[in-house]
Amino acid sequence: MEYTSFDQMDLSEEIMRALEKMGMKNPTSVQKLAIPLMMDNRCVIAKAPTGTGKTFAFGIPILEYLNMDADFVQALILCPTRELALQICTELRGLGAFIKGLKICGIIGGQKMDKQVQMLKKKPQIVVATPGRLLDHVQHRNIDISNIYTLVLDEADKMLDMGFIKDIRKVMKLTPPDKQIAMFSATMSREVMDISWEYMAGADEIEVAPKEEDMPKIRQYVLRLEEKDKMKAFAKIMEDYQCHRVMAFCNTKTRVRIVTDGIRKLGFKADCLHGDIGQGARNHIMDDFRRGKFNILVATDVAARGIDVSDIDTVFNFEVPNENEYYLHRIGRTGRAGRQGQAFTFVTYSQAPRMDDIVHYTKVSTEDLEVDL
Ligand code: ADP
Ligand code: MG
Repeated sequence: MEYTSFDQMDLSEEIMRALEKMGMKNPTSVQKLAIPLMMDNRCVIAKAPTGTGKTFAFGIPILEYLNMDADFVQALILCPTRELALQICTELRGLGAFIKGLKICGIIGGQKMDKQVQMLKKKPQIVVATPGRLLDHVQHRNIDISNIYTLVLDEADKMLDMGFIKDIRKVMKLTPPDKQIAMFSATMSREVMDISWEYMAGADEIEVAPKEEDMPKIRQYVLRLEEKDKMKAFAKIMEDYQCHRVMAFCNTKTRVRIVTDGIRKLGFKADCLHGDIGQGARNHIMDDFRRGKFNILVATDVAARGIDVSDIDTVFNFEVPNENEYYLHRIGRTGRAGRQGQAFTFVTYSQAPRMDDIVHYTKVSTEDLEVDL
């Protein structure tokens, strides 16, 4: 049965009152699908774009199933960043405003441990945490997560992108094997699939398609050329296509070095990120890029993970990526926040089948482009 309003969902009076107060009458698509499944104690893998109301999709079932007479942590929500954790806390406190005795605790890095210890001593039923800090508290025995009913992995793709996989595995081990797991993600990366295979066999999968107007607007050009012409094509496009803040991707660090040198020889300001660059240098390079000290950043897929620069207008793929999903990650660096972006992919004869594969599996629409060299 498909629900069109919250009225039909058999929710408690406390939640209905809160929803009413917030002016929410009808569930969003992801809420329609996820709430009944989660209330049925099913594990759920949900793929839904940003802004579709995922917080309440897991927040409503969690609040409905809390045992207010018990004083242990019953729901654990993991997310990638502090900001997000705090935002989830605020949203859930609003949703639970009429539930007497509800305690929600945010456990995030960069805050004093002892302040969080005080909060944990008050026996919250719900903990929202970034993985690293949560495990710090587990280690110090400030929190017991061995009895939780529900584990939520929010923005799982981003969390895994940021290298939290080991921490997530630890949390899986420290929590009951029969817990309910709900994973929310905007994309289904390989890492997200790995987690779902390993820990969520038999989960229900739901997917909400992005609305047309919310899709990033990225013009995707494909250039069929020979290896030796890539630099010339790059220079020509830089001149003709108003490229200001640029990311260029290669498949290997050797290639990253070669391409960075080549770009510099053309007279552009470029720097690079790859696996051999330490965290300190990396932060430095990212700061310089954000401040505009140079405007072309060359990187491998792995090195580019977790970096967040909002106003990149152009992406170059000097090579076709090895993974289909990487193509989406790469071009997704541009066209953020509703802005127009452009992506240029260089495809040599031998890489043509890989590019066809990407177009086939990711369903992106590309256009062929020829430049006079
Ligand atoms: P996501 O996590 O999918 O990016 P959020 O859960 O942060 O999305 O929700 C985005 C916005 O939509 C929030 O401001 C939230 O309060 C609002 N929202 C959530 N559910 C509903 C609903 N059923 N009706 C109207 N607004 C909603
Ligand atoms: Mg969210």
